[in-house]
Amino acid sequence: MQEKVNLLFIYIIIEINMFVWYYYCVNKEGEHMRNLNPETITNIVKESVIKINYELEDSLVSLIRKAKQNETNNIASSILDDIIENQEIAKKGSIPLCQDTGLVVVFMEIGREVYVDGDIYDAINEGVRLGYSEGYLRKSVVNHPFNRVNTKDNTPAIIHTKIVPGDKIKLKIASKGGGSENMSNVTMLTPTEGIEGVKKLVLDTIFNAGGKPCPPIIVGVGIGGNLEKSALLAKEAILRELDDESEDQTIKQLEQDLYKEINDLGVGPMGVGGNTTCLAVKINYFPMHIASLPVAINIQCHSSRHTEVIV
Ligand code: SF4
Repeated sequence: MQEKVNLLFIYIIIEINMFVWYYYCVNKEGEHMRNLNPETITNIVKESVIKINYELEDSLVSLIRKAKQNETNNIASSILDDIIENQEIAKKGSIPLCQDTGLVVVFMEIGREVYVDGDIYDAINEGVRLGYSEGYLRKSVVNHPFNRVNTKDNTPAIIHTKIVPGDKIKLKIASKGGGSENMSNVTMLTPTEGIEGVKKLVLDTIFNAGGKPCPPIIVGVGIGGNLEKSALLAKEAILRELDDESEDQTIKQLEQDLYKEINDLGVGPMGVGGNTTCLAVKINYFPMHIASLPVAINIQCHSSRHTEVIV
């Protein structure tokens, strides 16, 4: 009998401890975790993909206008006029800026103190699905390299995720056109090729691309990391603010030099010649292996469609 009482006593103690532990954990975490409904993410993505496909950001339009004032080639100048008029018509009429409404790329930063009550990747893809349907945007994604059957809703999006401090989620959302993406390049240079090797690679890539990426372009360059990291750096670079500058003095100088040298190539708007080949050059870098100098060049056409939302 005494044995049974002891066992019961131990059992009750264990239960009380578990209850206290559970109560402490749930409430302690609950106090700090911010709950977010996945529908909030879906709505943000839906509205963003529609808006960016209808409207270019003001800072980009200003750069195109400025380029037009400095353009000395008449045909190039008239193409820049067309681009300016095209974005005005698209904005006024709520119609896509281009027939290619792009593949959606999302850079997501998730705060450690936010909890999404559902699958955040599904939420993003649902936003793409709804946005491309309700916004009458062309569905440009196929399901297989060789079968090439259209997925009919522009999904899946390409999603990159970073965990960061805080209780917010930052979404950088882009619609990336295929024509400019196809002219991009990743090359593993050797360290001895150095800055001159990087310059040569960027200039050769832009010159060989000619009018195919629909210039005037924004050039994103990723230097360092490894093969895939350099490509991500280049992609993130084309999403930077147009008027920002690298904090690293060597990289900032390289951005300025390449901007001038790319425009001196004479490719011009849509490849017709002239002095407006690129509107900006953005370079991001990362530490790398002693034996490597990876360089990626991601080309963004003049229809640079992206936005950033923090929720
Ligand atoms: S590269 Fe850009 S402007 Fe050219 S067709 Fe594609 S999305 Fe349109």
